Amino acid sequence: MAKSPEEEHPVKAFGWAARDHSGHLSPFNFSRRETGEEDVRFKVLYCGICHSDLHSIKNEWGNAAYPMVPGHEIVGVVTEVGSKVEKFKVGDKVGVGCLVGACHSCESCSDDLENYCSKLILTYNMPYHDGTRTYGGYSDTMVAPERYVVRIPDNMPLAAGAPLLCAGITVYSPLKYFGFTQPGMHIGIVGLGGLGHVAVKFAKAFGVKVTLISTSLSKKKEAIEHLGADSFVVSHDPEQMQAAMGTMDGILDTVSATHPLLPLLGLLKNNGKLILLGVPEKPLELPAFSLIMGRKTVAGSGIGGMKETQEMLDFAAKHNVTADIEVVPMDYVNTAMERLAKADVRYRFVIDIGNSLSATKP
Ligand SMILES: [Zn+2]
Ligand SMILES: [Zn+2]
Repeated sequence: MAKSPEEEHPVKAFGWAARDHSGHLSPFNFSRRETGEEDVRFKVLYCGICHSDLHSIKNEWGNAAYPMVPGHEIVGVVTEVGSKVEKFKVGDKVGVGCLVGACHSCESCSDDLENYCSKLILTYNMPYHDGTRTYGGYSDTMVAPERYVVRIPDNMPLAAGAPLLCAGITVYSPLKYFGFTQPGMHIGIVGLGGLGHVAVKFAKAFGVKVTLISTSLSKKKEAIEHLGADSFVVSHDPEQMQAAMGTMDGILDTVSATHPLLPLLGLLKNNGKLILLGVPEKPLELPAFSLIMGRKTVAGSGIGGMKETQEMLDFAAKHNVTADIEVVPMDYVNTAMERLAKADVRYRFVIDIGNSLSATKP
């Protein structure tokens, strides 16, 4: 018989877990493996609440296994390193994002694209190499192989830096890969949420012109005055969309609700690229004519490899890019999830694990 989560490993751990598809989170005793020779163990101080956490705990993607400890925007301080660990020592500020493992022998892995390895192991809700399940960052400690641990730059605030481990790399990687970083370019960002707001900041840090495309005019002031977007287009205002036709070199589409692509394709210049980052439940309609006329591309992109995640953090630290966050205590997490479902957050909740988790121990 399989051992219980509390007994399968030697090191005691405590976190909050969802027990069923209601998604309700509550205190949970479990265990983590001992620090292996290539492992880094750290005390978790902060963990961001990603929209994926909400989808996962409610089993909206159909792959949930309970109990589930979510969280893949995890930062903290190293407490122990294995004998073969070279890059980290006790006391270092580190983070773990969406990945904790991959095959390390395929083409993706050799190209530092562990995120596209067919055997990738996500930080929570996945079977690990040893057959036990992975548990995420809504917990007191974390242990992961050195390859999947990144260094948080000294000048980066830990709480506001945490969301970069998922939201940040998700937008940074396509900006770089699709060449949306050349000065003089005009880039559209669709949707102003957890992804969209850091996309605006990274794109501005690269020095490109940024237009925020949103359904809600109410976000215009915020996008321009606070986040630094150059302009704002209301997506269901035909006049504004018409005025912006054919002006953009690239668009990052962060929207995960079903929405029409045709108007967005119209905003692109010839050879322009529309990059999908959100995952709508139903397939989107792709009008071929609007791609053919102007030789346009529609592509997708998902998080990033570990090497690029470190590069992204270093770039963010240099250009003072962090997420706008609302820090909440652990026992607020269920309320935070309800608010997140209504997009009632600017723009990311981050759980203050270090100061509030232990008080919730039964
Ligand atoms: Zn995420
Ligand atoms: Zn691989």
